Amino acid sequence: MSNDYEVMISSEEIMQGIRELGKTLSDYYLGKQIVLIPLLKGGFMFAADLIRSMDVQMQIEFLGAASYGEQTKSSGEVRLTLDTTLPLSGRDVLLVEDIVDTGLTLAYIQRLIKSRDPASLHTVVLLDKKIRRKVEVEVDRVVFNIPDRFVFGYGLDSPGGFGRNLSDIVAKKE
Ligand code: 5GP
Repeated sequence: MSNDYEVMISSEEIMQGIRELGKTLSDYYLGKQIVLIPLLKGGFMFAADLIRSMDVQMQIEFLGAASYGEQTKSSGEVRLTLDTTLPLSGRDVLLVEDIVDTGLTLAYIQRLIKSRDPASLHTVVLLDKKIRRKVEVEVDRVVFNIPDRFVFGYGLDSPGGFGRNLSDIVAKKE
């Protein structure tokens, strides 16, 4: 990683936060069978660590979303790039997302899932930039609240398109 970037959340801090969330969710879903849905692309690494911190019977499905517009800014117009294969009707669904910014992506995806009549929908996000919210969106658990800075690493893409594989969450130095 170049000197222009600084670590905002280290991989150790991320893993500790995820282990705590995993325990909370294991208690919350005690005795239930759930459908866990990572939202791609950004949510894949968070979901991979979270599912291994949870002691819950689960099936895993995937949803993919991309927003039109500039790379560092969501335009609000969301495009579904990948859909689930299992029916969600009557199921307890856990949606796993990397970051909530304006809320537009999550609002769109939550509407889509709810239209399929699940028994419940719970949403967890790794990062929340609350100050940027444009639409109200239900987020049940947040691992880290962050300021209004563009971050990448740990599954989240960098403007150049090569940042997803970093273990830490980083940002450009200000
Ligand atoms: P929203 O629709 O809430 O504005 O934005 C959600 C999506 O925008 C996220 O799933 C993510 O793909 C992207 N996004 C928002 N903020 C950031 C950021 O700081 N870094 C990266 N890499 N993506 C972001």
